[in-house]
Amino acid sequence: MKDRIQIEFVRGRACPDCGSALFHPGPRGGLAHNIKCADCGSTFWYSPPFKSERIDPVDGAYDLTVTQTLAEIEKSPPEETR
Ligand SMILES: [Zn+2]
Repeated sequence: MKDRIQIEFVRGRACPDCGSALFHPGPRGGLAHNIKCADCGSTFWYSPPFKSERIDPVDGAYDLTVTQTLAEIEKSPPEETR
């Protein structure tokens, strides 16, 4: 596994690689989300208010039919409800 690199989103809301504000949601755990940039395909671990990290892409882990802003991803309800 590559070293994880801490990165900051542009103004907290946009891809640090290309500036896109749209992402595909991926696996999540608690408040942490794995997200994939809808434009350049970069993948990140995103867990506000902590710094994000760049992660290795995993094929098939992201729902490419769903495109959301980070605000929408943060508000989306957990898939698992107990
Ligand atoms: Zn991007």
